[in-house]
Amino acid sequence: MSKGRLFVISGASGVGKSTVLGKVMGARNDLSFSVSATTRPPRPGEVEGKSYYFVSRDRFEEMIRQDAFLEYDEHAGNFYGTPRLQLEEKLEKGSVILDIEPVGAFHVREKAPDAVLIFVMPPTRTELEHRLRTRGDTSEEQIKMRLDRANWEMDQSTRYDYVVVNDQVDECARRILSIIAEKAD
Ligand code: 5GP
Repeated sequence: MSKGRLFVISGASGVGKSTVLGKVMGARNDLSFSVSATTRPPRPGEVEGKSYYFVSRDRFEEMIRQDAFLEYDEHAGNFYGTPRLQLEEKLEKGSVILDIEPVGAFHVREKAPDAVLIFVMPPTRTELEHRLRTRGDTSEEQIKMRLDRANWEMDQSTRYDYVVVNDQVDECARRILSIIAEKAD
């Protein structure tokens, strides 16, 4: 039996999830973060093995064949997946946070029905578009793709256990921490 509980956090690209998650992780040292594998190239500031495991498409496909993922998905032209072994090891020690999108979140729920699914919403759709445009790491075509995807993801939020709005980072982190305290402790 594993000791911890799975918390899945989703939210559209540009919603500020990484900042919120940084605060959540910083507030509790008994939580660990599931580091995904991806074929997307690193963004400035991202650290191999902390933000993601950055792997080639060939390597990712090999890992799929080896059944190395609890779940994986392809979107915006890249693969993303949750490495199964790493997650099981972390769960032995305590609760784990997964930052994954809705398709993966619902797969996790099928495999681990007591996982808690939390969706982070932007204050408004206009605010999200603004954040995406000022991030500066994506082309117009990619921004359009990410916006379409964001709208679809926000429509999925009704299937989550909790929806929290990121209108203010500290407040959003505090709400997530109180959900974790209620469900994990
Ligand atoms: P980004 O490229 O902005 O880092 O992430 C794009 C999306 O991929 C985000 O919604 C993020 O939550 C999702 N994602 C990251 N890792 C995984 C994973 O292991 N599995 C799935 N299904 N989605 C992931």
